Amino acid sequence: MIRTRKELETAEAALLAPYAQKSGESRGRIYRERQHPTRTEYQRDRARIIHSRAFRRLEYKTQVFLNGTGDHLRTRLTHTFEVANITRMIARSLGLNEDLAEAIALAHDLGHPPFGHSGEEMLDSLMKEHGGFDHNDQSLRTVDVIETRYPKFPGLNLSHEVREGLQKHAKFYQGTDDGEPHPQPSLEAQLANLADEITYYSHDLDDGLDFQLLEPEQLGELVVWKESENEVREHFPRLKGREFRSYVIRCIIDRQASDVIHTSSALIEAAKVGSADAVRRHSAPLIAYSRPLLKANQKLRRFLYKNLYYHPRVAGANQRACEMLRDVFEAYLKNPKLLGNATSRRVKTDGLHRTVCDYIAGMTDRYLLDEHARLFTPRVYANLGGRE
Ligand code: MG
Repeated sequence: MIRTRKELETAEAALLAPYAQKSGESRGRIYRERQHPTRTEYQRDRARIIHSRAFRRLEYKTQVFLNGTGDHLRTRLTHTFEVANITRMIARSLGLNEDLAEAIALAHDLGHPPFGHSGEEMLDSLMKEHGGFDHNDQSLRTVDVIETRYPKFPGLNLSHEVREGLQKHAKFYQGTDDGEPHPQPSLEAQLANLADEITYYSHDLDDGLDFQLLEPEQLGELVVWKESENEVREHFPRLKGREFRSYVIRCIIDRQASDVIHTSSALIEAAKVGSADAVRRHSAPLIAYSRPLLKANQKLRRFLYKNLYYHPRVAGANQRACEMLRDVFEAYLKNPKLLGNATSRRVKTDGLHRTVCDYIAGMTDRYLLDEHARLFTPRVYANLGGRE
């Protein structure tokens, strides 16, 4: 028996919470398309994201550690999968639309440039006079215009609800049932956003410990670590070393997710929102940490900035890579022919700076390093067997 889209939509309506965004109630896509006979709108969105080139490139982009530093450190791609997994887990508990929440999570970092946060800062400063650079805006730009896979429209032509979820810094979102701008996105979007944080807090701690930039003794002052550490000691008093640390990380994720589930459920109930649009009109987000966890996470964040992200072994390598990013950027500005035909065609419509910025933001770490060698040390590059 084949289940039709209509049947899947009916199943969603029966199974999901009243405040979940149903795929059958989607506001559609910028370019109108015929609906699929057996797939819902958000299933299609998820497939389009996974099959995009930008998604595949996440494998070779830095999360925190320069890509290639260690085979089991997180990359932008494994980070994205972890965000998608935590998003789905919480979405299911709260009766939200898993397909929609997962699609937003899978697309959330598509616009991230090479070399992680340092790469983003460098691109932003290079674009200061030309509209700046922000990876969230770039994720939306990637799915709206940069990906070209379909003959009838630019970009991936994703649904309104996935695009809404990618507008992380928007003050107002367009399009409730009354057509007015509204202060919140869907719960699915709020969730994917918070799951990103839960994910990187836990895996950055994990990678920092694994790479021995952090020591477990340093972490005793952090409530987030301490509570989970006590929990593990209570249940597994003899656990040591890597096994111990891994299990503490596991408990941190579990505690954070369960806090968000309970806090959000209470907030949703108190707000008495009976539909996805009532969520959008609500004055405050309804997916949230409890106050104590919010405070503890803020402290963890400060700790990670001080001891991990700006650690000389992390920041030094990223800084050197970013200087290469700047060199390549400036080389393209001086000689736009280096961009190649397909990219240079964009200069007329988007201007030279934005075209160069888009091109570089789409690169993987290794492509950019390769391009730097091709432009600045061609002899070395030729000896390595590089392309013409
Ligand atoms: Mg992220």
